[in-house]
Amino acid sequence: MSLRVGIVGGGQLARMMIAPAVELGIEVRVLAEQPGMSAALAATAVGDYHDAATVLPFARDVDVLTFDHEHVPQEVLATLVAAGVSVHPGPDALRYAQDKLLMRARLEELGMPQPDWAAVDDASALQDFIDGHGGRAVVKTPRGGYDGKGVRVVRAGTEADDWFAALAEDGRGGSLLVEELVDFTRELAQQVARRPSGEIRTYPVVETVQRDGVCAEVLAPAPRGGERLTEVAAEIGVAIAEGLGVTGMLAVELFETTDERVLINELAMRPHNSGHWTQDGAVTSQFEQHLRAVLDLPLGDTSASAPWSVMVNILGGPEDGGLDDRFAAAMAAHPGAKIHTYGKAPRPGRKVGHVTAVGDDLDDVAYQARAAASVFLG
Ligand code: ADP
Repeated sequence: MSLRVGIVGGGQLARMMIAPAVELGIEVRVLAEQPGMSAALAATAVGDYHDAATVLPFARDVDVLTFDHEHVPQEVLATLVAAGVSVHPGPDALRYAQDKLLMRARLEELGMPQPDWAAVDDASALQDFIDGHGGRAVVKTPRGGYDGKGVRVVRAGTEADDWFAALAEDGRGGSLLVEELVDFTRELAQQVARRPSGEIRTYPVVETVQRDGVCAEVLAPAPRGGERLTEVAAEIGVAIAEGLGVTGMLAVELFETTDERVLINELAMRPHNSGHWTQDGAVTSQFEQHLRAVLDLPLGDTSASAPWSVMVNILGGPEDGGLDDRFAAAMAAHPGAKIHTYGKAPRPGRKVGHVTAVGDDLDDVAYQARAAASVFLG
């Protein structure tokens, strides 16, 4: 009988695990939030992942349970583990991807390089931090943020009053995270795969380009990186994967500063947008690797299979949903570009697919990927 992996969450990350699962002869089952989601092809259940009574029966039937996102509550995870379900990444690692304040505190204990930060409970504590950091700071909601939602640059302690009020209303209280506004030259991401039995492999560090808080494109490997950057980023990735006991894929989002330091922004413990290029540009894609890692199977080679890969997200597109016609047009105009669509209705700014081009010349590769992606938005 084939191995069975259960994935909580029916988004595009779950969808993109389906193809390598088929190739490896692994059965993937998805617990989707709603019918008709990106990963509907493998959805065997639809239900609320906040509810242990929904997740547990789904999880009992699989060899290992993993995730398309980080939002399954710790209480539900604890119920699964207590029932003997094999969960990867496990709750003790996942908590650091769920809560940015916990993450900052743990990374500090591990002596990892990161921006100055503090937990603040009110406007006056926030003002003190701002005053101590050149009159500006970045405030973040510790939980539930994504794609830049829950991140705000502020110059006054009162600019996060709505978030403090929301925390108070929530009843659970808690603090906001404040960080120094890092003067970065660019953003990078380091991916690492780690098996429960300890085997670990790093991918080449990549450059990520964000627009309006959303990843727009990824250049792999990071141009102008050099050996030092490759080593420093890989060391950070390995130290975090081991220090936090991460299993499966880990993505470490990084800032490269004007004085050439590398600082940790945040963590994701699942396949990540910064690794989509690996589907077409690496020996083993992050989606295959995640399956191998959570099943504790030998990891695949993480080397790039071409000198350069560029991945461009398709963000939004026309409301009339003309993706099919555009798909054909992009294929016709750019036969060398690999187009991936997520089966999602296009809305302005929504990630509905991506394009990857690979080759020997970075400028040409970037042109191909950008031009093919732009056909969808035209
Ligand atoms: P999300 O969880 O929504 O992805 P992030 O914490 O990654 O949020 O922040 C989103 C973007 O905001 C980052 O990619 C970066 O461009 C910017 N950012 C976040 N933290 C800082 C910081 N301390 N200094 C400067 N820019 C920041």
